[in-house]
Amino acid sequence: MTVGTSLRCRECGREYAIAPIYTCEWCFGPLEATYDYDAIGAVVSRESIAAGPASIWRYGPLLPVARPPAGALDAGWTPLIRADRLGAELGLGDLWIKDDTRNPTNSFKDRVVAVALGKALDFGFKTAACASTGNLANAVAAAAARTGLQSYVFVPADLEAGKILTTAVYGGNVVAIDGTYDDVNRLCAELAAEYPWAFVNVNVRPFYAEGSKTLAYETAEQLGWEAPDHVVVPVASGSLLTKIDKGFRELHRVGLLDREPTVRVSGAQAAGCSPVATAFANGVDDVHPVRPQTIAKSLAIGNPADGYYALDVVRRTGGACAAVTDAEIVDGIRLLARTEGVFGETAAGVTIASLRRLAAEGVVRRDERVVAYVTGHGLKTLDAIEPHVSVSATIPASLDAFRAAFPGVGEED
Ligand SMILES: *Cc1c(COP(=O)(O)O)cnc(C)c1O
Ligand SMILES: [Zn+2]
Repeated sequence: MTVGTSLRCRECGREYAIAPIYTCEWCFGPLEATYDYDAIGAVVSRESIAAGPASIWRYGPLLPVARPPAGALDAGWTPLIRADRLGAELGLGDLWIKDDTRNPTNSFKDRVVAVALGKALDFGFKTAACASTGNLANAVAAAAARTGLQSYVFVPADLEAGKILTTAVYGGNVVAIDGTYDDVNRLCAELAAEYPWAFVNVNVRPFYAEGSKTLAYETAEQLGWEAPDHVVVPVASGSLLTKIDKGFRELHRVGLLDREPTVRVSGAQAAGCSPVATAFANGVDDVHPVRPQTIAKSLAIGNPADGYYALDVVRRTGGACAAVTDAEIVDGIRLLARTEGVFGETAAGVTIASLRRLAAEGVVRRDERVVAYVTGHGLKTLDAIEPHVSVSATIPASLDAFRAAFPGVGEED
């Protein structure tokens, strides 16, 4: 009951029955899942959610699949941690980190894959597939292994060695494509028309995308059923950012938030792949495709499918979109690790560096309750920081050698 009722075109509003389709036959606009919010409001309460599992499935009625696929790994319900030390460095008084490194394959993509594969199994697919910048490949390969599906994941050949390895280990098929993510994505759209496979971010994308809403749900619940004032979200295709905005608004629509949320949503991109930030800076609606050149490979989508909608959310909510250099990304990774003990991947570096930039510009304000989304684990992108961190000293195993290397240390304790 109360699971997503239909698919609706975001452009012309035409409705379609639930099926593995993703574009409108009439106008080629993207399709989005719809819900009967009055029916959902009648069955969900803060108590019913609190009694649910410690995973995204506590919000089952607000997702297009009510239950996890049998045997699935638990995605979601990750910690929201107070970040006072980082806040002090950035001049922010009420900063929080949503630590989504703590998912089964260490990125937020486990959320979207759980929903997509749940739907794929409902539809009777036997094979899961995706076009990936890395983390989606990890999540699809692992979830397919858990649920007994075959898998084909397609990635750009220049992906970090760590991400290839942590995908291939699950025993599915990893296909490296000579080209950018945008080339991979184009190929997957062609393959989806030929092969009877569930491409999680192509033909089942309308369902996949809904999984990202759980990041907003959890944030509000963990703040005691209050929405934050400002969120900073990394942008690749732009889907995550638009769904976080949608998630907060839905909570109010079904009666779980007392006050209508006014969450300012800001985006974070790498300067080497910043089509959305560039359109924001230029004050235009058109998101012009770029050729990515950045260490933040998980965000390296030059032609973002939801770029236009992400831009719209940022403008409508009074947010902004920053673009940060590779050097700032590395500093952002180290700043987060040094102040909060959280090791994020390059996308997290983009988010923290963008937060720093927006705080310095006064866009993110000291008096706001701010949540920054750390969406992937640093062990996935060791190559990015390897040149920048090292041991403090290499010495023989003797007290004298230690004293010589660290003179005066310990006396102040
Ligand atoms: C995929 C990804 C994102 C952004 O996803 P979109 O929904 O495509 O914008 C952010 N962070 C990480 C680590 C990702 O892997
Ligand atoms: Zn349409």
